[in-house]
Amino acid sequence: MSVALHWFRTDLRVADNPGLSAAQSSGLPVVGLYIATPGQWQAHDDAPIKLDFWRRNLLALEAALQQHGIPLLCIQVNSYRDIPARFEQLLPLLKVAQLHCNAEYPLNERRRDEAVAAVCGRLGVHMQQHLDQVLIEPARLLNKSALPFKVFTPYARAAREMLPPALWLQKIAVQTTVQLPVLPLAKQVSELTFASSNAAWTALWPAGEQHAQQRLTTFCQQRIADYKLQRDFPAIEGTSTISAYLAAGVVSVRQCWQAAQQWQDGAGVFTWQNELLWHDFYKYIAWHFPHICLHKPWKSDVGHVPWRHDQNEFQHWCEGRTGIPLIDAAMQQLLQTGWMHNRLRMIVAMFLTKHLLIDWRWGERWFMQHLVDGDFAANNGGWQWSASTGTDAVPYFRIFNPVTQSQRFDEEGAFIRRYLPQLADLDNATVHAPGLLRPVSYVPPMIDLAFGRERALLAFKRANVFA
Ligand SMILES: Cc1cc2nc3c(=O)[nH]c(=O)nc-3n(C[C@H](O)[C@H](O)[C@H](O)COP(=O)(O)OP(=O)(O)OC[C@H]3O[C@@H](n4cnc5c(N)ncnc54)[C@H](O)[C@@H]3O)c2cc1C
Repeated sequence: MSVALHWFRTDLRVADNPGLSAAQSSGLPVVGLYIATPGQWQAHDDAPIKLDFWRRNLLALEAALQQHGIPLLCIQVNSYRDIPARFEQLLPLLKVAQLHCNAEYPLNERRRDEAVAAVCGRLGVHMQQHLDQVLIEPARLLNKSALPFKVFTPYARAAREMLPPALWLQKIAVQTTVQLPVLPLAKQVSELTFASSNAAWTALWPAGEQHAQQRLTTFCQQRIADYKLQRDFPAIEGTSTISAYLAAGVVSVRQCWQAAQQWQDGAGVFTWQNELLWHDFYKYIAWHFPHICLHKPWKSDVGHVPWRHDQNEFQHWCEGRTGIPLIDAAMQQLLQTGWMHNRLRMIVAMFLTKHLLIDWRWGERWFMQHLVDGDFAANNGGWQWSASTGTDAVPYFRIFNPVTQSQRFDEEGAFIRRYLPQLADLDNATVHAPGLLRPVSYVPPMIDLAFGRERALLAFKRANVFA
C-alpha cells in the first residue's frame, strides 16, 4: 500500500504542522521521516546545547506521533549532499506516493530541497512544500514596485494588512497504526549522532510541545501586557524565552501570533507581534537576498571596512573577560544557559564589531556555536544589524556605549551580580564599570571606549559606507 511521507526538519511538532496535515489530507497512511545530518550540523556550527534540544524534542515528537498511529522513521547521513541518494532508495522501498515538508529559506536548505524534488520528479513521487516558518509566503510580500522590502517597518505594515484577524491552526487525527517494513538503514533516535547530553540543559530547556505551549500561555497571561515596558531589562523575566522552541519548530509562529491575538489588545501585544515579524523578516531577507547565506554582507559598500582579526582580543570577548561588567555577564549568560537577552545580544555584538572592530562573522559563528535558539536568519540578521552591514541596520555612527547601556538597562546591577558574583559587593554606581571607577579584583577594561568608538567611525568613513 502507498503512503504519504512527511519529512520533519525544523518543525518538530504534531500540532499546527501544515506539511503533516497535508500528508494526512491525502487519505493515504502517513509515515514521518527524520534525517540526522551530523556533518552538516558541524559545518553550520550548530551548538551542542541546540543539538541536544533537538534530540530531546525528537523523542517527544516520536511519542506524540505514536499516539496518532504515525511511525517515525529515523535515518542518518553525513550532510545534505547525501540526502537525495537516500531518497532514491527510500521512496520505492516505502512505496511513497507523496512527500510533504515545510519550506525552509536559507540557501543550503533550498538547494537540498531542490535536489530532493529532482529525485521525486524522476520517480514520479508528488513532492509538496508548505508554508510554515513564516506567517506569509516571502514571494507574496512585495512593495508597490513589486520588489522585496528592504526596511522592516513597511514590511511589517504590509504583513499586518495581509494577515486575517484570526489564523487557522491545523490539527491531525489519529490514524490506524502503520507498521514500517524492516529497513536496514532505519535507526533509533538514541542511535543518531547528536551531542552529549547534560542534565542542566534538560532543566533549562525542557522538551516537547506541551512545554512550549505552557511557556507561551504563561507569557501571555503574565507578561505580554507589560512586554513593551519590560523587554529591555535583562534582570527581569520580561520576554517569552520561546525562541529555542520556535527555532526547532516545537511551536509554530502562527501559534505564537494567535496566542498573543487572544489577549487584550494593547502596546504589549503589538510590540511582541512585531518581534514575531522580525523573526519572519530575517527569513524573508535570507530568501530574497541569498548572498547573505554565503558569509557576505547584505550591503555591498561595506566590503572595504578593515575588519580586525585579532584572535587574542576575540578570545577575551568570547570568555567574558573584557573588563566591561555587563558584557562579561552577558557572555556568561550565553555560556551557562545557551541563551542571551536580546538587549545584551545587541550590546555585545556592537562592542565586538565597533569598539574592537572585529569581523562580525566571528561573532556570528561564536553565537551559533553556543545558542540553544541558534537560527541562521535571525542570527545573521542580528549580527549584520549590529555591524551596520545589514538591511535596515543601525547606522554605523550610532554606537552603543556599553557602560551607559549598563547604567540604563541594569540600573541596580542585578543582572551583572547574578553572573559575576565577584562584583556582588560593589555599590550600584561602581558595578557598571569597576575598572574605570576604582581598583577592584577584576580584569581592567580591554579597551578605552572613546578610542574604540573613534577608530570605528574613522574606519567606516574611510570605507565610504553609507549610513
Ligand atoms: C546579534 C544577535 C543575534 C541573534 N541571534 C538569534 C538567533 O540565533 N536565534 C533567534 O531566534 N534570535 C536571535 N536573535 C534575536 C533575539 O535576540 C532573540 O530572538 C530573543 O532574544 C529571544 O528571546 P525571546 O524568545 O524571549 O524573545 P521575545 O522578546 O519574547 O520575542 C519573541 C520571538 O520573536 C523573535 N524575535 C525577537 N526579537 C527578534 C529579533 N531581533 N530578530 C529576529 N527575531 C526576533 C524570536 O523568535 C523570539 O522568540 C539575535 C539578536 C541579535 C542582536
